[in-house]
Amino acid sequence: MAIFIPEEKISEIKNAADIVDVVSESVLLKKAGKNYIGLCPFHSEKTPSFTVSPDKQIFHCFGCNTGGNVFSFLMKQDGVPFPEAARHLARRYGVDIPERPLSPEQQRIISERESLLDINRRAGDFYHQALLNDTTGQPAKSYLAKRGISQKTVEDFKLGYARDGWDHLLRYFAGKRISTMLLAKSGLILPRKNKSGHYDRFRNRVIFPIFDVNQQVVGFGGRVLDDALPKYLNSPETAVYNKSRSLYGIHRAKDRCRSTGTVFIVEGYLDLLALHQHGIENSVATLGTALTADHVKLLTRYARRMILVYDSDEAGIRSAQRCIETFWKEHVDFRREDVFSENKADTHILVLPAGHDPDSYIFEHGPEAFLTAASGSPGIITFLMDCAVRKHGLTTEGKIRVISELQEPLAAINDQIARAIYIQQLAERTGIAEAAILERIRAVVSRQPHSSVSAGQKGTPAGGLAKSAPAASVPAANGPPGINSGIRFERRIVAMMLQFPQILPEISRLNVLKYFENEDLKSIGNMIVQFNPATADQVSGLVSRIDNEAQQTLITSLAMEDESWNQKGCLKLLGTFVDARQNIRNRSVLEAQIRTAEKRNDHALLLTLLSKKQKLAERSEKQKMAILNEK
Ligand SMILES: [Zn+2]
Repeated sequence: MAIFIPEEKISEIKNAADIVDVVSESVLLKKAGKNYIGLCPFHSEKTPSFTVSPDKQIFHCFGCNTGGNVFSFLMKQDGVPFPEAARHLARRYGVDIPERPLSPEQQRIISERESLLDINRRAGDFYHQALLNDTTGQPAKSYLAKRGISQKTVEDFKLGYARDGWDHLLRYFAGKRISTMLLAKSGLILPRKNKSGHYDRFRNRVIFPIFDVNQQVVGFGGRVLDDALPKYLNSPETAVYNKSRSLYGIHRAKDRCRSTGTVFIVEGYLDLLALHQHGIENSVATLGTALTADHVKLLTRYARRMILVYDSDEAGIRSAQRCIETFWKEHVDFRREDVFSENKADTHILVLPAGHDPDSYIFEHGPEAFLTAASGSPGIITFLMDCAVRKHGLTTEGKIRVISELQEPLAAINDQIARAIYIQQLAERTGIAEAAILERIRAVVSRQPHSSVSAGQKGTPAGGLAKSAPAASVPAANGPPGINSGIRFERRIVAMMLQFPQILPEISRLNVLKYFENEDLKSIGNMIVQFNPATADQVSGLVSRIDNEAQQTLITSLAMEDESWNQKGCLKLLGTFVDARQNIRNRSVLEAQIRTAEKRNDHALLLTLLSKKQKLAERSEKQKMAILNEK
């Protein structure tokens, strides 16, 4: 992969890119002293522990202990490999990476992912041109016109047309000398069943290119122009397209999502286009799948409030239940409380009046009516409660059914406070005592295999105010509490090396790293000495050189703190450290000698050795005091 972007281009990109700039695109940053802080995009939190240092060009979150430089930020945020993060930055900062024509040889070298994106881009252009073309595009043009889609929307979303015929796209790419194998991997062509050769997947369909957040075409959707089946056809899963991670329209929605804090989630391409065309640009569409935890993770980067739009109660209920199940199942990397608690992401279900889908509703009633309806939409649990009450009524049997239907969703809420609020609501609605509902939910929770978070709280009622895991806020240089003091000392020295590089010659002279016990810290220390990050922003360069993610994070956490080091103080600290470690070594040598003397019954030697040991102990006690006074 590295072959594709020359090393000098990487450093050019690194010098041009500004981490505050890049992070600001997705995180609201506030100045705090030398650094900027904001709410972490990689875990959910209410108080900012995500810190960006413009001087060092690194970020670090003290909440989830993630850190890195501008490249790692993009890689982590967008889930892309290094070359793609680099390319994204190159585009943004106008660093020219020469585009090479795809020779068969280079095709092998360039990663499959890169090639597929390239194929998709070209296919998107090909379909788009076909639609714009007066003669070939006519059937699709009239279809879109009939659906009320404007010329501007066609252009904004690069809509296209796959002409009727078996091999238009195939022949187009043959002319570009793109290998059939690669083309097949893109999902745009399919192998013929009985004969050799391939044929186009999309034929006589309106084409909706699916873009990712970086404006790259990752896949396609195609809709028939008449009532033929299947009505919709999507790209298969490929190296670049994963439907449970892709959202149609996200590339044009993300800015408005960020500015409004809200995102509308619809199900169809045309629903999405109708919303955008009516100025509701903070909307996206799922692609033939229910909302997944990955979707939610992606969306929480842009908006806290999610409104799922459905055309019927049934669809809404199914989706709400699936949402809860999904979040439940994928609990490992998704903290469910995010979905429910009011201050974090809150999720609502908007069911449109009977007979309407978002597309028809907005064309008939306009955007204001849509927004008004949305503003009154209930949260997921309230929605399920409403539906259950409507379905079963409030007779005695009805109430029991309502509780039964709600017990699983309620048990799935991890935020104890949110859960308590809903239980209270349910108790009020049904007139059944809170305690009785709690009992039911506790029973469900204890049956659930994934209740790792609740496991530690088994003694407390499920709806009680038991505190969930506290947001860690750890002073970097001293490390998490409970860490042994020796390692804490080593962390402090590495922090010193990162923050006060003037001390590096002394580190080498005193051979400080020789005494390190923690392997990660020792190897980072050696890297720093080798690489010598003489200027502060070189910390970012250091991060680039280290593959080990744990070590990267260790570096960013240690570099982020700004202690006002001075030469004298540093030397004193280093002296104390070396002395202490030397003492430990001396002591173990001494102890070995004492054991030998004891065996030999050499009392004279034993006495001398024991007195030496006594002196050593006194000295190390003094050192301990010195270290304590140091802090
Ligand atoms: Zn975090």
